[in-house]
Amino acid sequence: MKTLFQKIADREIPSKMVYEDDQCFAIEDINPQAPVHILVIPKRVIVRLGEVSAEDSALLGHLLVVAGQVARERGVAASGFRAVINSGADAGETVPHLHVHVVGGRALGWPPG
Ligand code: AMP
Repeated sequence: MKTLFQKIADREIPSKMVYEDDQCFAIEDINPQAPVHILVIPKRVIVRLGEVSAEDSALLGHLLVVAGQVARERGVAASGFRAVINSGADAGETVPHLHVHVVGGRALGWPPG
């Protein structure tokens, strides 16, 4: 069974893809919480941050590099943005395929809800 994001990567479900390489891709979130809300998603499924292992190190690092690049391209790197990974039920994770939310373009509250 493919995850939702694997189906998006395989173009079985449409999305607004803003970045793609051999390891990951980035799409506009379908329900944006801020003027900029992009998801950076690995092509190899990592289920959630709470289940990663050392062999995921390089891929996780790459996701953050791409998150920073996307933030710069969308013009929020200077003003500030947040990179968020929701892991598990209490964090509000809804798609069990790890993804980094890149959220910006407005002042973001802290602590998160
Ligand atoms: P999370 O709740 O952290 O697991 O994040 C899942 C995110 O995926 C949410 O922000 C959803 O709005 C987003 N999402 C769900 N379905 C789609 C879709 N088809 N295209 C783009 N984003 C989606």
